[in-house]
Amino acid sequence: MKKGFLKLMALSVAAVLSMGMLAGCGEEQGTTDEQAGGGTKDVLVMGTNAAFPPFEFVVGEGQGLVGEFDGIDVAIAKKIADKMGKELQIEDMKFEGLVAAVNTGKIDMAVAGMTVTPDRQESVDFSDTYFTASQVMVVQPGSDIKSAEDIKEGKKVGVIMGYTGDGIVTDDLGVAEGNITRLNRGIDAVQDVKNGKLDVVVIDSATGKALAEENGLEVVEDPTVFETEEYAIALPKGNEEMLNTVNEVLAEMKANGEIEELAKKYN
Ligand code: GLN
Repeated sequence: MKKGFLKLMALSVAAVLSMGMLAGCGEEQGTTDEQAGGGTKDVLVMGTNAAFPPFEFVVGEGQGLVGEFDGIDVAIAKKIADKMGKELQIEDMKFEGLVAAVNTGKIDMAVAGMTVTPDRQESVDFSDTYFTASQVMVVQPGSDIKSAEDIKEGKKVGVIMGYTGDGIVTDDLGVAEGNITRLNRGIDAVQDVKNGKLDVVVIDSATGKALAEENGLEVVEDPTVFETEEYAIALPKGNEEMLNTVNEVLAEMKANGEIEELAKKYN
């Protein structure tokens, strides 16, 4: 009798443990399915490339809004998670892989200063837009680069892989492949301008300005060539409910001035 009871106990403990493990696995894979009890909140997984200040960047562990992550996008995503009653989890990945990660469900949304483009719209749905930017050129002080025309020939031009800036430099300006260096992170590209490996980096305006200031570099604008771009949140195709919630949060944050405040705070 005693033995039977112990066996039953052991079995239940094993069952509870494996349930817990399953729930844990789900969390790691970023599922938003209901957790198997235990009081843990569902998670909302945001994918980003955390080398894009002031939108997303890494600070000391525990010093960011979420773990080591901070920035305007992190603040927006946190509001969305709060609205859904979920806990925000951040996956830091290559920018280039974000659209596919949303598309395949590896992440729930990409919040990454991502410009709405027709190409991307084939794979993901975009929320309403929340920020207007354009490309700028980050150069050394005293550089002879004064307009986009000046980087068309004979300059070592850096871009970030998969960014809109890459397309503009490659397709619109027609810079020769041999003169283009494609990097994975904005932070690294700007470092290469600083150490002279590159003459110029073409990157989004707010980020270009933040990184130029941090590194004693200058920003050159050329609105005749670099058109405005609109940032939005990338979501899985056809998820109306999520799209509506995200748009509701963005509308609230625009109406009460929170987005503007964030832009000021982080700039
Ligand atoms: N806005 C640019 C793009 O969408 C760059 C975004 C980013 O680096 N996070 O391509």
